[in-house]
This record gives sequence, C-alpha cells and structure tokens, in this order.
Amino acid sequence: MLPALVDIGLNLAHDSFDRDRDHVVATALAAGVQHMVITGSTLASTRAAIELARAAPQRFRATAGIHPHHAHEFHDADVPALRELLLAPEVGAAGECGLDWFRNFSPHADQERVFRTQLELATEAGRPVFLHQRDAHDAFVAILREYRSHLPGGVAHCFTGNESELRDYLALDLSIGITGWICDERRGHHLRELVRLIPADRLMLETDAPYLLPRDLQPKPQSRRNEPRFLPHVLATVAACRGENAADLAAATTRNALSFFGF
Ligand SMILES: [Zn+2]
Repeated sequence: MLPALVDIGLNLAHDSFDRDRDHVVATALAAGVQHMVITGSTLASTRAAIELARAAPQRFRATAGIHPHHAHEFHDADVPALRELLLAPEVGAAGECGLDWFRNFSPHADQERVFRTQLELATEAGRPVFLHQRDAHDAFVAILREYRSHLPGGVAHCFTGNESELRDYLALDLSIGITGWICDERRGHHLRELVRLIPADRLMLETDAPYLLPRDLQPKPQSRRNEPRFLPHVLATVAACRGENAADLAAATTRNALSFFGF
C-alpha cells in the first residue's frame, strides 16, 4: 500500500497548471499524496488558492500571504484584505512570508515591513506561519524571535540552509519543510546529512511544484515542471538519508502536516 503523504508546498494556482490542473491533482492522489497545501504568494494567488481548496476542503488547505518577492506591491491599504483572507476556513497557515535577499526583487525595507505585518496578522488570526528565507538568515531570525512566542507554530519551508541555521530554527521551535532540493547532487548534498538532525515530529515534506523538479528522477520526465506526484521520491530520498523506513517516515510527516495545517 502507498503511504499517505501531505505536500505542504504546492503552487497549484500557478499558470503552468492551467491546462491540466485536475489531472495533476488526480495523479498526485494516485501516487498517495492525499492532502495538499496550496501556497498563496500574493493577494491574487491567495484568493485563487482558497478557491481551489474550497472545491475539496477534505484534501486541500491554502496559505494566505505575500512572498517577499512581492513585498513592494503590498501597501497598508491591502492589510484589511489579507486579514480577512487569513480567516477563511480553508486557510491553514499565514504565508508564504519571510525574507529573500538572494533575488532581492523587493527592497529589504519593504520585505521586513511586510514580514512583520504578516507575523502580526498571523498572531491575530491564530494561524501558524509558512516561512520563506534565502540569504537573509540573521535578519529573518531576529524578526521572528520577536513574534515567535505569540505564534501557534511555524514551518521553515524549503529548508536549504546550513547546520547553524537549522539549529536556530529548531531552537525557535519551528518545523522544517524539505523539498526535492535534497535530490540535487550538487546543491543539496549538505542536506543529506543535516536532515538527520531534524526530530521526526518537526519534519514535513513538500514539492514546491511547479518549481524544484528533483534532478535525479528516473526516467526523466519530459517537462521541467515539478508536480505533486513526485513527492514519494522526496520521501524515499529523505528516508534513505535518515536511515529510516519510508512508511514510518511517511506516517510521521503526514501526522505533523495534518495537525499543523488544521486538516
Ligand atoms: Zn518559498
């Protein structure tokens, strides 16, 4: 029997799924991915994620938030709209939110402002946070520390950092989301050891589809588009790195995700 999995990071509202969204979901279900959390990264994509989740609330949750890339487009006048979206029953977490100083699509001041706003709104709404961080660890942790005790939970989504960053996150009582980045023999090599340091009750799995197609899929898919049906491959890789049985790891990560996102 296939282990039941939860993909905690799926950009299902992305336009690369416009042609065949139902098929993408059907093939994920057939692969054992029974629950999916649809990422919101702007007000518009949050609305789309909620609408998709509403069609099958037993299978889906949405996140409601503004990705740091889009922070410059988010103004004080938009706060009430995000506050309201966070309260939708389909929303399992606030985000994705955080800091991205790798691409720097938004000025740092905007990113920090919008991150703080979302941590406040998450606190108000009693939602955990779905967190994104790249090349901004120190500033990110400093801001998060101020709010952490008020938040019901947080997950560092698509963790790709080093050991000291991982230890900072665990000390902040965060959960850790692992994507197919770990399958990348060049960029993901360090994760193969680090993933052993994550307690089983803090670990969750995600594809971040359509991004981050695992590089070692066999046979290689025709398209570069990642899909939630590849999550069992991430599970198998993480289980092998941890020296664990895949079914046991599936059970643990699924339990963590269902409880975190309020399924
Ligand atoms: Zn992200």
